[in-house]
Amino acid sequence: MTVRLRFAPSPTGSPHIGNIRTAVFDYLYARHCGGDFILRVEDTDRTRYQEGSLEDMMTGLRWMGMQWDEGPDAGGDKGPYFQSQRLELYHKYAKRLLDSGRAYYCYCTKERLEEMRKEQEANHMPPGYDRKCRNLTEEEREAAAKENPNPVIRFAMKREGRTEFDDIVRGHVGFDNELQDDFIIIKADGFPTYHFASIVDDHLMGITHVVRGEEWLSSAPKHLQLYEAMGWEPPVWVHLPLILGTDGKKLSKRSGTSTTFIDYMKSGYLPDAMLNFLATMGWSSGEDRKLFSREELIKDFTLEGITNHPAIFDLAKLNDLQGEYVRMLSVEELADMLEPIMAAAGCVKPVNGDDPREYLLKVTELIQDRIVLLNEAPETANYFYTDDFDYDPKGVRKHFSADHAVALAERLAENLEAVNNWTHDDIEAAVRKSAHDLDLPKDALAIHAARLATTGKTGGPGLFELMLVLGKDVCVKRVRRAGNYCAELAKGE
Ligand code: GLU
Repeated sequence: MTVRLRFAPSPTGSPHIGNIRTAVFDYLYARHCGGDFILRVEDTDRTRYQEGSLEDMMTGLRWMGMQWDEGPDAGGDKGPYFQSQRLELYHKYAKRLLDSGRAYYCYCTKERLEEMRKEQEANHMPPGYDRKCRNLTEEEREAAAKENPNPVIRFAMKREGRTEFDDIVRGHVGFDNELQDDFIIIKADGFPTYHFASIVDDHLMGITHVVRGEEWLSSAPKHLQLYEAMGWEPPVWVHLPLILGTDGKKLSKRSGTSTTFIDYMKSGYLPDAMLNFLATMGWSSGEDRKLFSREELIKDFTLEGITNHPAIFDLAKLNDLQGEYVRMLSVEELADMLEPIMAAAGCVKPVNGDDPREYLLKVTELIQDRIVLLNEAPETANYFYTDDFDYDPKGVRKHFSADHAVALAERLAENLEAVNNWTHDDIEAAVRKSAHDLDLPKDALAIHAARLATTGKTGGPGLFELMLVLGKDVCVKRVRRAGNYCAELAKGE
């Protein structure tokens, strides 16, 4: 039997971290088993449908390299993969339940249900449908149909005993049947509810393992009784642990962490880092290890490794992984990724007229250790592409306001100008010599001033390396400009 897993999002908003984590587990297990990964769109709630949601979902999956074998765009012989295009099927199977007495039309109006709910609340009774329409006589049914020609269809849950099942994560679970509601399977608008549509589809699509959020655990008895009533074999159940923030609270925007997956894509995380992070959020290989390549995840991923305690979304851990992944890239790979980001920020033309690609490779090499998010690159490397940068005010106070500042800039400019061979060592010698020429107590004073003059910043890659890339003309020009700036500053004081 082929292992088949489906990711079944409802297009009701932009995907959040939890959605994509579920998809990651579906994908990894399907690939681990050499099985199928299916994308099914659960678009039966017309009131909550949101334009663009599915596109975001698919963009996110593709970005993570999780291409589905069947689903929208991919096709497959178990389609259609949009539930809104499968209504006939749901009606066919609802009829089967009606015929066998396991489902019934419910004519109760909104008003009646509302009254019932209030009464239950007042009497401290558990909420739920009171089964008024479950045993209507033929005449009662006809009369009710006149009053409400658009009935819903409800499933007749068993009233005695317990519904028990094994969940891969939770172990053996059981629920008392008397607490279960006769839930709706077909709504008044003719659309199925999630409970019904998902079991019909899981069966028809040959889904072997249902991996979904823990919030669905309490719905499992409904699904199991549906399977039993239909005479179908239920899948293996896998209810994933909740995702909490580092504060132990439910992940929410309010705690300062975005829950929207697209935000992470846009801010320059690497897909492989994200895959590694999400795969290890609620799953463990059993070893104390944090880095897993895609191939290793596919090889090692088992359902038994899913933890049964809440998973923690730890942004610091994500950033840590991201940094490691950025550093594992070759300079060429990283440059390829940075190119569009730099271009979008206007960092296109090398400030010294060099060949843009060669220059980008050199710049990339210098900043590879200094960025976490790819989107940080333009800000980190702006001075390679423009002369028009401001000096860090803290640096100005420290290095450009010193008594020796004007003289030092002059010495630096002259000594750099005199370098014949623009090499790392000769640049270094020229900078250090400037400090010696002025009898400064430390070479570092010249090094800091030169950095501020050539980059506007107080930190960054190795000074002589970056000056080497900028080239002599640019460096001399910038040091002279800084000298004028220091002179103005001195005048103003
Ligand atoms: N459409 C449901 C959701 O987005 C799917 C739950 C499931 O995987 O069965 O939560």
